[in-house]
Amino acid sequence: MSRPVVPISVVDIGDAEVRRVEEVLRSGRLAQGPVVEELETEFARMHGVTHAIAVSNGTTALTAALQALGVKPGDEIITSPFTFVATLNAILEVGAVARFADVGPDYCISADSVAPLVGPRTIAIMPVHLYGLPADMGPIHQLAERHGLAIVEDAAQAHGAKVEGRSAGSWGIGCFSLYATKNVTSGEGGIVTTNDAGIADRIRLLRNQGMRARYQYEIPGHNYRLTDLQAAIALPQIARLGHINSRRNQNASYLDAGLSDLEHLRRPVTPEGREHVFHQYTVAVRSSSPLDRGTVVSELAKDGVTAGVYYPKLVHDYDCYRGIPQVRPDPTPTATEWSKSVLSLPVHQRLAVTDLDHVIESTRRLLG
Ligand SMILES: *Cc1c(COP(=O)(O)O)cnc(C)c1O
Repeated sequence: MSRPVVPISVVDIGDAEVRRVEEVLRSGRLAQGPVVEELETEFARMHGVTHAIAVSNGTTALTAALQALGVKPGDEIITSPFTFVATLNAILEVGAVARFADVGPDYCISADSVAPLVGPRTIAIMPVHLYGLPADMGPIHQLAERHGLAIVEDAAQAHGAKVEGRSAGSWGIGCFSLYATKNVTSGEGGIVTTNDAGIADRIRLLRNQGMRARYQYEIPGHNYRLTDLQAAIALPQIARLGHINSRRNQNASYLDAGLSDLEHLRRPVTPEGREHVFHQYTVAVRSSSPLDRGTVVSELAKDGVTAGVYYPKLVHDYDCYRGIPQVRPDPTPTATEWSKSVLSLPVHQRLAVTDLDHVIESTRRLLG
């Protein structure tokens, strides 16, 4: 019997997106314009911030945030070693030094793991809200205040997530991605959120060649612009975000219930006070398991379940980063353990109950 394939992610495009893109195409105005502005207004409102600045992708969002803070070569930024490579690349792009705090059972860095790394060169803390679960921002915010540090949140996977009732991306400078597989997508795209008018102004300048008014250049800038075509794809999804995130949460609860008694499997945690948006549903294969992670992933694939491994190594554990003085690989044993044992199961909003049952059955057959 051949099983249908259950994909790990979905590009969820509906009629509303098609309609809005067609409107832009027919308007003859394809680059940054009123639709980008509409996206910014909606995104800021949804995340409870005063400014949202749309940029070309999540990586440029991170880079622009650091540039707007005036990060200089040699300044240190404390981040997570258990993240997508863009987090580290943005730090290197501005010439800063990356320090790595360990992550906890929530797969995120914490105030406790960051504190010992804070020194005279530290300029910012860059937590990553991994898999859609925001880091424990209350204590991180207090630590940053105490030491006069900026916070740049890598919220690429956490649109609409909350901590203590406040949106991810509203605790510092928030950097979101609209890449094809994210909970909100425009193919490629990014958004920076902030309550600081000065930061917002600098990011708007940096985004458009440093230009304030036509041919009036204030700073050397870049082209970080998003297009109205892309904003037209993202807008209907922003309107659906509550629905998307609640479907993902329902699917996660369904998987939780179906997998709860598997002793070799660790299910994801959602600590008190945090609202997960389940960009990924990430489990870990315990060391007690007779099957290792690689075997579980390949056996699931044979059964039509595409499990992802995010991320198979710590972000700095690649030859291209070795020996670079800007990359300081502080020891992070828990992150190392997760990188060897995690896998993500399909949880996206377009899964049917039969898909979820299939994921549960296949996983139980291997680890039950
Ligand atoms: C996707 C992602 C980014 C980068 O976003 P792009 O839009 O692909 O440039 C950064 N950090 C994390 C954690 C991501 O998942």
